Amino acid sequence: MTLHTRSVAELAAGLAHKEFSAVELAEHFLARIDAANGALNAFVTVTAERALAQARRADAARAAGRAGPLTGVPIAHKDLFCTDGVRTSCGSRMLDNFVAPYDATVVERLDAAGTVSLGKTNMDEFAMGSSNETSYYGPVRNPWDPRCVPGGSSGGSAAAVAARLAPAATGTDTGGSIRQPAALVGVSGIKPTYGRVSRYGLVAFASSLDQAGVLAPAAADCALLLAAMAGFDPRDSTSVDRPVPDYVAELGAPLRGVRIGVLEEFLGPGLEAATGALVTAAIAELGRQGAEVVAVSCPNLPLSVPTYYVVAPAECSSNLSRFDGVRFGHRCREPRDLTDLYTRSRGEGFGPEVKRRIMTGTYVLSAGYFDAYYLKAQKVRTLISDDFKRAFGRVDLLVGPTSPTPAFAIGAKVDDPITMYLNDIYTIGANLAGLPAMSVPCGFVGQLPVGLQLIAPHFGESRLLAAAHAYQLATDFHRRLPAAYA
Ligand code: GLN
Repeated sequence: MTLHTRSVAELAAGLAHKEFSAVELAEHFLARIDAANGALNAFVTVTAERALAQARRADAARAAGRAGPLTGVPIAHKDLFCTDGVRTSCGSRMLDNFVAPYDATVVERLDAAGTVSLGKTNMDEFAMGSSNETSYYGPVRNPWDPRCVPGGSSGGSAAAVAARLAPAATGTDTGGSIRQPAALVGVSGIKPTYGRVSRYGLVAFASSLDQAGVLAPAAADCALLLAAMAGFDPRDSTSVDRPVPDYVAELGAPLRGVRIGVLEEFLGPGLEAATGALVTAAIAELGRQGAEVVAVSCPNLPLSVPTYYVVAPAECSSNLSRFDGVRFGHRCREPRDLTDLYTRSRGEGFGPEVKRRIMTGTYVLSAGYFDAYYLKAQKVRTLISDDFKRAFGRVDLLVGPTSPTPAFAIGAKVDDPITMYLNDIYTIGANLAGLPAMSVPCGFVGQLPVGLQLIAPHFGESRLLAAAHAYQLATDFHRRLPAAYA
């Protein structure tokens, strides 16, 4: 078996059995990045020297008998995780020259677990987008069809894993940015419960929604990596002090007797027929394995897109005020005065989608419109959370599609923000309610992958991962590679 066709768990086993060294593994993936990144644009920064140094340390640790389950496993980080001494651009001209002076907690923990960081992946600017077309560094291409988007905003991470330029990659999910790209490129991706993984050192987009997670070929890989990332962090005030279960040990929980609710609102108009058929077939597979499948309704869920597009821009307008060319970010040349400095620095540093969000956010927070928009959206957010709470009184997991369609053509939706925003119609609800959710590959429409979404109650990551794992023991969609990268 060639190295890159193995899952993270298989690579970890190979390292443990000394089939290959961490240095050999890092060299293998660095060579793949070298060969393919020109076409895919998945990485914005490749840290080859650092990776090899980390790999040598991993090999030394193993030789000294100090290896953990992830020692020597290569990984890539979405370019909004601060990385000490390495540029952290967030896909924006604003941070094109920003070298972080410290590591995000997620990066620190994965480093401590012995992973080898290959570099930083491309993303929608400040994580705002569903197609990776808003990046200052240009679009990322879908490894299954280079004319198509890989989804977003963690599109670089998704494409890197799909083409096996990296065995796994970190991502963040504010409204779907791990699950939607995972679906569109045919990999597994998990967004944990809000507060499960530290947000310290992430460039903030919408702080009440942002959550870090991971993309990898299989659910079992996600379990391995999440185990290293999760846990209390005193540096993030929303981090929850609660023990981290042994996600890997709990992968084996059977589906028998698990009550699964099919979200009615997710199977109606708007869902492309072929995508819907694959999702329905995947749900039937869960039933065959003994899960009890019932229909469930969350009537307020269709309001999640308008709710999100008030709450997220409001928070982003506040979070992004720090990028003023003085404290952080791009500074214009020869400003005439302070106003000119702010206006031109922000005008030049931010792209059109980010500006649209800042303006929307400023508007909905303004004195005259706060009650009509922001306050109203917060109330609807509570209704959506209550819908989920009621549903989880009846079932253990909710399922549905991750995205209404497979990957679409680059350029097809960029000029129509509303159509673009509707991509996240199935993913946003989990963010508004802070719930853990994941996407796993469940088939293909033509050559393009489709994802099945699973949503669990707060801190139900084990159940989520175990259900996904059971599904993947019976299917091989997560094992398929795009022909060009096999
Ligand atoms: N696509 C959504 C947006 O544009 C979600 C992005 C995300 O999860 N970071 O805001």
